[in-house]
Amino acid sequence: MLVSSTTYTTLLEKYGNRPMASAFSHAVAALSIGSSFYQPQIPKRVRVAGILCSVIPDLDVIGFRFGVHYGDFWGHRGFTHSLLFAVLLSGAAVAVLSQRSLPSIGGPSLFAYLFLATASHGVLDAMTNGGLEVAFFSPFENSRYFLPWRPIRVSPTSVHRFLSGHRYAVLRSELLWIWVPAILFAGLVLTWKRMKPADVSTASN
Ligand SMILES: [Zn+2]
Repeated sequence: MLVSSTTYTTLLEKYGNRPMASAFSHAVAALSIGSSFYQPQIPKRVRVAGILCSVIPDLDVIGFRFGVHYGDFWGHRGFTHSLLFAVLLSGAAVAVLSQRSLPSIGGPSLFAYLFLATASHGVLDAMTNGGLEVAFFSPFENSRYFLPWRPIRVSPTSVHRFLSGHRYAVLRSELLWIWVPAILFAGLVLTWKRMKPADVSTASN
């Protein structure tokens, strides 16, 4: 849905800040996604890269200090939250990590993990109940979108605001809708991975 500049202004007046899911919750989502690619030999820096990829899109809030408007191309939840940005960021991260030899994870798997970690950021933001929609298809199509289901309360970008007012409501919401599903998903995936060799040996008997 395309949002007009008048609507942007109205939303800013309404919400008074730049809402987003908190960085911790984006990191938890990235770790959960990483469970699908988990191998004991994979070095920690791969997980760290996934976490960084999941939080980097919100660096766009720096633009507010330089006069970038919320709904601009470089505005909050704009291009840095798009699928193309996820491709570019994960591609660059793979190039950097691959220079340090990672035999335990192939390039395509590493790219898939980092892409999903980055793209998960926009998906979670699109499930929040405030702020502007996410420009998933920027720069090809600059309309912004929310998912039809938005149970996550927005978290203010300001640390001061995060530590006051809605702190508990935001934490509760993110625990319920991000942390619990992420931990459950990772638990199921890791359990399945551990059981897999046993199944193979059982089948061979
Ligand atoms: Zn964001």
